[in-house]
Amino acid sequence: MQNILILGGTFEARQLAARLAGRPQCCVTLSLAGRTAAPTHHPVPVRIGGFGGADGLAAYLRDRRIDRLIDATHPYAAVISANAARAATAAGVPLLALRRPAWQPAAGDCWTEVADAMEAVSALGPTPRRVFIALGRKQLAPFAAAPQHHYLIRSVDPVDPPLSVPRAKYVLGRGPFAEAADRDLLAAWHIDVIVAKNSGGAATFGKIAAARALGLPVILLRRPPLPPVAGVETIEAAFAWLDHGVALSTERGV
Ligand code: NAP
Repeated sequence: MQNILILGGTFEARQLAARLAGRPQCCVTLSLAGRTAAPTHHPVPVRIGGFGGADGLAAYLRDRRIDRLIDATHPYAAVISANAARAATAAGVPLLALRRPAWQPAAGDCWTEVADAMEAVSALGPTPRRVFIALGRKQLAPFAAAPQHHYLIRSVDPVDPPLSVPRAKYVLGRGPFAEAADRDLLAAWHIDVIVAKNSGGAATFGKIAAARALGLPVILLRRPPLPPVAGVETIEAAFAWLDHGVALSTERGV
C-alpha cells in the first residue's frame, strides 16, 4: 500500500485523484486550502485547511507515513509549493509537481504581461474601458483605484465585500469554461479588455480563446517563481512517476 498526498485545488488534482481512486494499492488523500465555500466532490478522502507552514506539512507527512507527495496546486499558489518543497526534503518524502505549461500567444494576439494586479490597473490606462476580470478575490482590491472602468468580475464564490467602484457586475462560475460561452459573455457585456492569470490548461482557456476570436487584448499576471523540484505537465506523466515509485518501494520491501 502506498500513501499518497495530493495538494490540490485544481482541475488536474481532481482528475488525478479520480484516476488514483480506482487503484487498489494506493491510499490517496487530497488536501484543499478551504478557499471555496462549497468544494466540488472528490472520489478520495479530502482534508481541508492549512498545515501550519512547511514544518506543519513535514509533520503531517511523517505522522501519516506519506510515501509520495504530489503538488498539483495552481501555478500561482507559490507559498504552498515552496512549503511542499521544504517539507518533502525535511521529511524525506519524494515530491512531484504537476504543473500546467503556461499558455503561449499566437499570431495576432495582443497580450501584455504584468507583475501583479497593481500593474494590471496601470496597464488599463486612464480612459474608461469595459474590463473582464478573471482573478482570485484576493487580487481585486487594486482595481478600486481605477473607478473609471466598467468591470465584469467572475469568481467561484461571491466577492464580499464587493469592489468599491461605481460600475462593477459579478458573475459566478467554476471552470471548466467553454470558449463559445465565454465568447457570448464577452460580447454580451461589450468587454474590450481581459485581465487574467496565465493559468495554463484547458479548463480556463475559454476566455483566452474567446479574446483571440474577438480580437480583444489580454492583460496577464506573470507567473510567480516556483521551487525547482521534479515536475511533469500531464496526469499520465504523474502516473509514470508513481509507478516508478511503486516499483522502488517494492524493491526496498517497504
Ligand atoms: P498559497 O498562497 O500558495 O498558500 C497560502 C497558504 O494556504 C499555504 O501556506 C497553506 O497554509 C494553505 N494552502 C494552500 N494550498 C493548500 C492546499 N492544497 N492544502 C492545504 N493548505 C493549502 O495558496 P493560494 O494561492 O491562496 O491558493 C489556495 C488554493 O487554491 C490552492 O490549493 C490552489 O491550488 C487553489 N487555487 C489557487 C489559485 C490561485 O490563483 N492562486 C487559482 C485556483 C486554485 P499553511 O501554510 O498553513 O499550510
